Amino acid sequence: MSFAASVLTLYPEMFPGALGVSLAGRALEAGTWSLDAIQIRDFATDKHRTVDDTPAGGGAGMVMRADVLARAIDHASPPGDARPRLLMSPRGKPLTQARVRELAAGPGAVILCGRFEGVDQRVIDTRGLEEVSIGDFILSGGEPAALVLLDAVVRLLPGVMGNAVSGEEESFENGLLEHPHYTRPQEFEGREIPEVLISGNHKKIAAWRREQSERLTQERRPDLLGAQPLLK
Ligand code: SAH
Repeated sequence: MSFAASVLTLYPEMFPGALGVSLAGRALEAGTWSLDAIQIRDFATDKHRTVDDTPAGGGAGMVMRADVLARAIDHASPPGDARPRLLMSPRGKPLTQARVRELAAGPGAVILCGRFEGVDQRVIDTRGLEEVSIGDFILSGGEPAALVLLDAVVRLLPGVMGNAVSGEEESFENGLLEHPHYTRPQEFEGREIPEVLISGNHKKIAAWRREQSERLTQERRPDLLGAQPLLK
């Protein structure tokens, strides 16, 4: 069963974009996942193919119309489609590795990319859109956010990452930031690889990595230490 992504956008040419190369690109070619980029404008009905209008109540910018978006969503995700419907939105719940894992375990996702000031609230309410944010900053559109979300999901699909173990040791998977990495050369600009890592003592290495992880998390993301680990 492959993961099916449908992306609703005014800029379908942005897809697969970065997801057409490397691991995600190979997985796309192999059919591990599929991507359908749907032009929202195709669901406009007037001569000018209008998708947006001025905000009710006044104010700057434009708002994406509920009727046009609803037609696009109903086309991409007819009743009975088990895939969650996501709206990329700075007002959404911040994306977490836990949510990424859930999505990767499911049948796919229908992803609406906003533009302008955002979308008419009624389409969010009637089509049950789950608002998802990729961080506390404002993008010019939902497309880069959708690419980020899909990148995170696709790398977890079975067979996409060569070394499956590495996925479980990443930052956030155990509620901690990852330890530092080293590789050859043994000495770089006068700095040696930490002794313990070349000791061959796997128990000591694991303990050192754990300590480093805890130290980094304490320093940079103390907020994570209060949270529940995602695995085990
Ligand atoms: N007026 C809105 C911002 C609109 S930005 C507000 O103040 O909340 C235009 C579009 O970019 C949004 O509809 C959304 O789809 C996307 N976007 C912007 N920032 C985002 C973020 N941090 N995460 C996810 N999507 C984002």
